[in-house]
Amino acid sequence: MASIFSKIISGEIPAYKVAETDQFLAFLDINPNAPGHTLCIPKVEVDKIFDLDEDLYLKLMAFSRKVAIALEKAVPCKRVGMTVIGLEVPHVHVHLIPLRSMDDAKFTHKTLLESEDFDRIAKDIAGFI
Ligand code: 5GP
Repeated sequence: MASIFSKIISGEIPAYKVAETDQFLAFLDINPNAPGHTLCIPKVEVDKIFDLDEDLYLKLMAFSRKVAIALEKAVPCKRVGMTVIGLEVPHVHVHLIPLRSMDDAKFTHKTLLESEDFDRIAKDIAGFI
């Protein structure tokens, strides 16, 4: 069965998209630690990040870096943190989180946003890519 992220790629499930190439997609996390929390994924469905072939892994890092640089310009923060977990969704994803404090790095610390907020933030980040 297709992962929830493959359904986002196919358009079956909506997402607030930030950047897209033929191989990768960046979109806002629906349950963010902090405003601007973004996920970068390869379009190919692989569960664990270190199972990606080296070329795709390095390209994912380059894509994530580009998104992180735009994110830091678009969302006020001290820096952008990068985390890989994958215990909830078995489809490789890099979390990019604008950090204002250590709390923003904790996945037990969540921020409630309205759809207008998600929409505006996604457009703001996309504007710097
Ligand atoms: P992990 O697998 O790294 O533990 O976490 C998966 C992340 O994906 C979580 O931060 C969760 O909020 C996010 N997530 C899960 N389902 C969806 C979804 O349908 N849409 C979006 N945009 N994010 C999701």
